[in-house]
Amino acid sequence: MIELLFLLLPIAAAYGWYMGFRSAKKSQEEISNKLSRDYVVGVNLLLSNQPEKAVDLFLNILQKQEQENNIETGSQFEAELTLGNLFRSRGEVDRALRIHQALDKNPNYSFEQKLLAKQQLAKDFMAVGFYDRVENINIMLVDEPEFAENALQQLSIVYQKTKEWKKAVNVAEKLAKISPQKNGIDLAHYYCELAINLKSEDKDNPLDILKSALKANPSCVRASMLLAEHYMLQLDYQGAISFLENVLDQDQAYVGEVLVTLKYAYHELNQLDNFELFLIRASQKQCNSMVDLALADLIEEKYGITAAQTQIYQKLHNNPSTLLFHRFIKYQIESLEDGKGKDSLILLYDMVGDRIKKEFSYRCTNCGYQTHHLIWCCPSCRQWETVKPVLGIEHS
Ligand SMILES: [Zn+2]
Repeated sequence: MIELLFLLLPIAAAYGWYMGFRSAKKSQEEISNKLSRDYVVGVNLLLSNQPEKAVDLFLNILQKQEQENNIETGSQFEAELTLGNLFRSRGEVDRALRIHQALDKNPNYSFEQKLLAKQQLAKDFMAVGFYDRVENINIMLVDEPEFAENALQQLSIVYQKTKEWKKAVNVAEKLAKISPQKNGIDLAHYYCELAINLKSEDKDNPLDILKSALKANPSCVRASMLLAEHYMLQLDYQGAISFLENVLDQDQAYVGEVLVTLKYAYHELNQLDNFELFLIRASQKQCNSMVDLALADLIEEKYGITAAQTQIYQKLHNNPSTLLFHRFIKYQIESLEDGKGKDSLILLYDMVGDRIKKEFSYRCTNCGYQTHHLIWCCPSCRQWETVKPVLGIEHS
């Protein structure tokens, strides 16, 4: 609602001019009162959550201006541009397109005004999914310094939608030069997408692309995981381990995602003791039930169930998570002889297990979107790397 009010500010300005102009010709008191009333009614409609009625009212005011045909060019341009944006914001894109195209073609407007019209025209085309038109307009706007950043952002959205990752990389590299810290995350993921989607005829080396991702954003967990995957396929376990362990320093929240592969790599090298050392280091950094469970597995394999049970019992005090409680009940069941008490524990174990299955394992830190699967681009807010693992992790 507040956005709509801001959108209407230029209309209010044009309208104020209109009131002044009209009052010179007609009875000032009469016209001012009438239009002031209309405008106040419009603002009240907006504030009372009735944007449709408000927009209709403001459209009427603007139509009166056009019929009078004596409003100054600058104010009229601004008012019509805003009117087009209002149409787009309420889903009437065909009307927005007509207005913005007319502004773009009108010979009375300056080059700069036409660039503004083109910018809004591209947003209209974006709203209806005409990505080739959006691309063409923004490629032209990139050459205009004042429009370049916005045009690059729009192009970035287009190439994500069309999955043209090479173009997305080029655009993000240009954006990174304008605001380096902001765009490193996106750029790194475009490199990852490019590496994943390489075709057999492409000459690019996926390893070089993934290393470029790490260069763009050294904290890119996804690039490390993909590099590790590559080395695992080559049976280069030591190479894979260095990238998998790097995840702990990049973003410890993702450590649970690499534990299975890391254990396999250490197992193949007959170095499970080093895996245990890594788990101890990880558990010291953050309370993470996935790490505690992996450690319990190792202890159980080496020293038996009683030692693992003791370890989980101690961890439960620091990190009372559902995952650890579930494992604790399992150990209790296994240490009990058959009987009524054991049946009750099995029932409890199943109930807690069902609860865990229903819990979301990942949540977007930006918009709160929740999911059961790891995804790198939030489908709700379209941000990269904001969907983080949360199950069994204690967040400070
Ligand atoms: Zn989100």
